[in-house]
Amino acid sequence: MKVLRPWFYEEFRCAAGSCRHNCCIGWEVDVDPESVARWQDIPGTIGERARAALVPDEVSAHLRLEADGRCALLDADDLCALQKDAGEAALCEICREHPRFHAYLGLRREDGVGLCCEEAARLLLQRPLAFVWSEDSAPEEEPPIEPALLEFFTEVRASLMRALCAGETLEAGLCRMLALAREAQARLDGEAPRGAGEEAIALPDDGALLAELLSLAPIDADWTERLTRPARQPVPVPDAHLAAAGAYTLYRWYLQGAEERDALGYAAFAARFVLAARLLLRRGAADSPAEALCLVSREVEYAWENVDAMRVPFAAR
Ligand code: SF4
Repeated sequence: MKVLRPWFYEEFRCAAGSCRHNCCIGWEVDVDPESVARWQDIPGTIGERARAALVPDEVSAHLRLEADGRCALLDADDLCALQKDAGEAALCEICREHPRFHAYLGLRREDGVGLCCEEAARLLLQRPLAFVWSEDSAPEEEPPIEPALLEFFTEVRASLMRALCAGETLEAGLCRMLALAREAQARLDGEAPRGAGEEAIALPDDGALLAELLSLAPIDADWTERLTRPARQPVPVPDAHLAAAGAYTLYRWYLQGAEERDALGYAAFAARFVLAARLLLRRGAADSPAEALCLVSREVEYAWENVDAMRVPFAAR
């Protein structure tokens, strides 16, 4: 199968014990049934500890979190005891894969590394965004959606990514990207394009955006605290870095709209994503662009209710 990946996919390495937003703290990890079965045979103390960490649920099981939010398998050195004692192969599927993501699109697969990981965000901002094709032995599959529709969304996505990165300013890039997404939606809906005379889509100001972000389901108390504490010294970020993060967010999410024939919603999502990161930096609520992207990703990309809340199209002026 053909595989598309961002340039940093192969370079990504977990920062493990030196990670300050460790994904083994505060997140409940679902354990797949195969791993639950496999863990029954792990010998010794580590096997006992792994089994004791499992909390059965309706689907399979999840890993118990201690009172301080740490995974029951996380040692004091912030390393996973199971991985240390039994090797990476012993991990459950989510722990082996996270923060990587995969989109199975029939004849091709698209892989990436989620920005919920600060190390991934740091890599993203190191060089201009580029994607690399390769091939692996996974078999091609039936496309999950009508091929012509997938093609349409893939082409529109490429034009949105280009528009966003070519903007003279972040605002200009976002407005052009949203205008193209609105045109694509009109084509999908069989409406005549309204052309240059159409009103521009207005981006929210920081006050409106802050209210929107505070209305999301908080993933942890730290998110709310960062948004509500008094603003500190702003942290500068080049527009090009935010544009690249927006393009990468389109890469991850935009094709999801194909099934619902929603060509505008995920463009609005990508715009809000980067504006939220910029807001955190303007308020001094994150200490670097990579941390801001990581915090926004953790808050919005792993809770469907928040993804949907961020997909609301912006109003025209
Ligand atoms: S957030 Fe990234 S660097 Fe940190 S522990 Fe998770 S995978 Fe590793």
